[in-house]
Amino acid sequence: MKTPHARLGAGFEALEDRSLPTIWGVPWPDPEHLTLSFVPDGTQTPFGPSTLFQSLASAGSVDAWENQILRAFENWASQANINVGVVSDGGEPLGAVGAVQGDSRFGDIRIAAAPLSSGLVASSTPFSWTGTTYSGDVVLNSNDPFVIGNVAGSYDVFSVLQHEAGHVFGFPDETTNPNSVMYTTYQYQTGLEAADIAAIQALYGPRVQESSNNSNNSMAQATPLPSAGLGSYLATSDISSPTDVDYYKFNVSLGGALGGVAVRVKASGLSLLVPSVTVYNAWGQVITSATDTDPLSNDLSITFNTGLFGGTYYVKVSASNTVAGFGVGGYELAVNDLSIGEVLAPLTNAVAALASGNVSGALADALPLPPQTSTDSRFDATYRGIVVASTDIDTFEVWTDKYTAGTAVDLNVIAWGLATTPLDPQIHVFNASGTPVAFQVIANSTGLYSVQIQGAIAGADYYVQVVAENPNGPNSTGSYFLGVDFNTAAPQVFAAAGSGTVQPGTGDTATLSVPQAKLFQFALAAQSSGTGGGVTMTVYNATGQVVFTLSATAGQPPETATWYLAAGTYTVQYTDTGSGGNAGPIQYDLFMISLSDSQGPMAPNISSAPPPPPSPPAYTYTSSSSGTPTGYGYTY
Ligand SMILES: [Zn+2]
Repeated sequence: MKTPHARLGAGFEALEDRSLPTIWGVPWPDPEHLTLSFVPDGTQTPFGPSTLFQSLASAGSVDAWENQILRAFENWASQANINVGVVSDGGEPLGAVGAVQGDSRFGDIRIAAAPLSSGLVASSTPFSWTGTTYSGDVVLNSNDPFVIGNVAGSYDVFSVLQHEAGHVFGFPDETTNPNSVMYTTYQYQTGLEAADIAAIQALYGPRVQESSNNSNNSMAQATPLPSAGLGSYLATSDISSPTDVDYYKFNVSLGGALGGVAVRVKASGLSLLVPSVTVYNAWGQVITSATDTDPLSNDLSITFNTGLFGGTYYVKVSASNTVAGFGVGGYELAVNDLSIGEVLAPLTNAVAALASGNVSGALADALPLPPQTSTDSRFDATYRGIVVASTDIDTFEVWTDKYTAGTAVDLNVIAWGLATTPLDPQIHVFNASGTPVAFQVIANSTGLYSVQIQGAIAGADYYVQVVAENPNGPNSTGSYFLGVDFNTAAPQVFAAAGSGTVQPGTGDTATLSVPQAKLFQFALAAQSSGTGGGVTMTVYNATGQVVFTLSATAGQPPETATWYLAAGTYTVQYTDTGSGGNAGPIQYDLFMISLSDSQGPMAPNISSAPPPPPSPPAYTYTSSSSGTPTGYGYTY
């Protein structure tokens, strides 16, 4: 939001954020598998190359300040059904085209530092239906002094990041309650207050305690470890509170495991749990144990030898009591008989894709995705699927019972490819009688598709299909993530920018003025009376350099691009793409959303703030053509 840039109180700046979307309160689609990375210095950000490591050196060792940042995220995550695992970062530019969650090249949440304007301590971006990978990114102001602790004239890394983490998880600034960590102005903070905890639990649900599913809190209640092949066992679970303990048991057959047994606990990349593991024999005697001390390297591996007679062994996993603040999170436990396999299969934090959604693609064979039944705001349904062949059609049946049957709600559906060369997905939505439902395309770019249906009916069945957008293209197969949510959040609304016509040999030109640097989402549609052909839009900056291009095919859904534009005047040129043999004029329609407007409408259950002061228009668009874009809708 825009607030005055005046320095406040004892010289502290507002914790103001620039790249904020108009819609708050949208949870991350897969909050139990979030990842975080620290971007290497030199990584391109909208504000210049990142200097995170250089800028935070003043705060202490890398380990020390990274721990503060992780503790800030864990403070929120441990209260709700959220895991944040640390992963490496390949240094791709912030906002690089990719998977908004689950991109293997960098974390969903990326921490960077770059020079922001005076008055801004940090800039951060929550998840948005536009699916941009800017979502989750936090940029600290490299001009500001960061320290660890409450030091006059400096910013405490933990306090700042706890506030920014709140934005990342979907919360707006809080202007009335100074105790909230979301309060607009910087203040030294030690932890969340009741209102913050209530907010994160309303959005993501109070963390499910293990006793409600499997209560393996004692040796007598130990869970038999699921087999993962001959002599190997694998379990995925969660330490749901700092005092939670998980017991497992497994058998070693007569003759023993003469090569020894390896017990591994993996939390790296999965969560910020700092684990401890203990192995017991059948009489409850401790055989061996290990305790971790660092959330930045939170895996454990121990081996032990069994006797010749084999028997039952127990494994206890708990939180290490050596590091405060990292006592909750998901983990994987693997047990391997080393006499069977010397080489241990790597434990990976990649969430495995499931199968193709259904075999035939017919609506009658749709895979039901029952909605989550709790009252929090998490997505109604999510699925990891695979488009196994370019002609594969994955069909799902979705519905909601969260709202009174028959009432009108919004239905959002988003899908993105998960592989390095991602599936370029397309979404179709049908009602219960198999009729295609009209929707608005929120995002349609390589590897991403997001649609919104206003006026969906609560309680009614819908069918969602995921297919390859271009079965003959290079991105026509692969794994994908699908998120479906019925909600009453404010819809994402594109503004009509301009419209005109082009044909071979004639272009069209417009001018786009941006008074303040902002993140924009562009949607370009093309239509013609003939077949084939399309329009390419090229945006040039004031010095004539190409900023980006966007191409739309006539008669197809709009194509979108998310771009951070510095303040300035841009020239927009439209040309006939030339393919398809369409000789007639092609109409183009351009729509825009400013993703960094003032604070917008908020979802229910989120502490509200007074309306923001009016801000200047995000942009002005003038064209030689005077056409008005036709409605931003697309059926099937
Ligand atoms: Zn803020």
